[in-house]
Amino acid sequence: MFQKVLIANRGEIALRVLRACKELDIATVAVHSTADADAMHVRLADESVCIGPPAARDSYLNIPAILAACEITGADALHPGYGFLSENARFAQILESHRITFIGPTSDHIRIMGDKIEAKRTARQLGIPVVPGSEGAVENEDEAASLASDIGYPVLIKATAGGGGRGMKVAHTAEELPHALATARAEAGAAFGNDSVYMEKYLGKPRHIELQVLGDGQGGAIHLGERDCSLQRRHQKVWEEAGSPALLPEQRAKIGGVVAGAMQKLGYRGAGTIEFLYENGEFYFIEMNTRLQVEHPVTEMVTGMDLVREQLLIAATGRLSVTQSDVTWSGHAIECRVNAEHPHSFRPSPGRITYFHPPGGLGVRVDSAAYQGYVIPPYYDSLAAKLIVAGRDRHECLNRLQRALDEFVVDGIDTTLPLFRDLVRNKDIRAGNYDIHWLEKHLKDGTAPSHE
Ligand code: ADP
Repeated sequence: MFQKVLIANRGEIALRVLRACKELDIATVAVHSTADADAMHVRLADESVCIGPPAARDSYLNIPAILAACEITGADALHPGYGFLSENARFAQILESHRITFIGPTSDHIRIMGDKIEAKRTARQLGIPVVPGSEGAVENEDEAASLASDIGYPVLIKATAGGGGRGMKVAHTAEELPHALATARAEAGAAFGNDSVYMEKYLGKPRHIELQVLGDGQGGAIHLGERDCSLQRRHQKVWEEAGSPALLPEQRAKIGGVVAGAMQKLGYRGAGTIEFLYENGEFYFIEMNTRLQVEHPVTEMVTGMDLVREQLLIAATGRLSVTQSDVTWSGHAIECRVNAEHPHSFRPSPGRITYFHPPGGLGVRVDSAAYQGYVIPPYYDSLAAKLIVAGRDRHECLNRLQRALDEFVVDGIDTTLPLFRDLVRNKDIRAGNYDIHWLEKHLKDGTAPSHE
């Protein structure tokens, strides 16, 4: 096992990784920007190193500073968390060449899955069903027009280097296509420094269902079931469930078998997520994330497994600690991403938390780096806390979530708690009857609450 792990991240995920390390008796190193000197991950780690000024590009994305922190502290492995450098193939490669274990997949697998065209091609070769669309990049308007008439409108133009829902535009008709192509390309160029785009059939009423996988890097791989992340705003997940209200256990076993088989063929190492859109009983691959995800706790709550512990064990030993038949699912779990944002306008609301009272009790988990008096800095994402609730079935889980949301108090800043209090009481949500467009429509209808 590792002696010392450097956690190249901040916020709740840095704490999450730190906790797993402590339970395995591994020493931890926190890194932080000057804005995060008082942050909880710095306080709880055994050692900490300041790696630069507030802007992420100068600190949490600063590869030389992070390498220097590894060297100064003698860390033998690095956990990247999610975001920041977690899907940066060059960073993984640099660590490999410095003999520091990157707790994640090989740089080759990160590179393949980071390019969405390459990822879809690979998925297809591995026998994973994909969304109908262009084989590769779409070069010009003529090519786009002929492709779109083959695929059938509406179509979606997506960024090859995409992430966070950026660089994505729908064309409902041939007339809309040139504009969609140009704006997607411009947005992709600005966001990712790469304006390559591709085309997909735009699905009208899909759910977003993703499968958690673990691989040992030597041909062994298992799946840990699905998460339903259909409740989204601007293609960003807001509320996640395990299992999906739309899937039966047999359907889980079937798609799980497909993805686990694919990861065995690929020789995938570590934790990963295969994302699908699901419509009319069919799964369509959209992308693979080669890292731990924000919503991983719902899988932990229904399987009883600690995913970060599994990541650490795989990285250290090259073995999985369990076989597929050891994995069982019990009950239901839901995660709400409580953001420091106005619940109606979604404007970021950084600042001092003057009062913080997280909920508790059976089946309630709060993953957060916030505390009373903590100042949420304006430089990073707005996730203030993840509220994760489990119950023996979905009904119990929803009732427990409702009372946990009512207990949760965060004063001094705006949060999205009122939105969740509205959602948990909504009849469509109660019935599990929603797709990826449901939340946007609900917000537009004005039925969502304004700030309390
Ligand atoms: P990103 O990497 O930017 O998050 P994804 O490919 O994962 O992009 O897609 C994000 C979300 O966008 C999906 O969860 C879904 O809501 C929507 N989306 C993506 N592809 C399609 C599609 N072909 N049809 C309809 N919606 C889509």
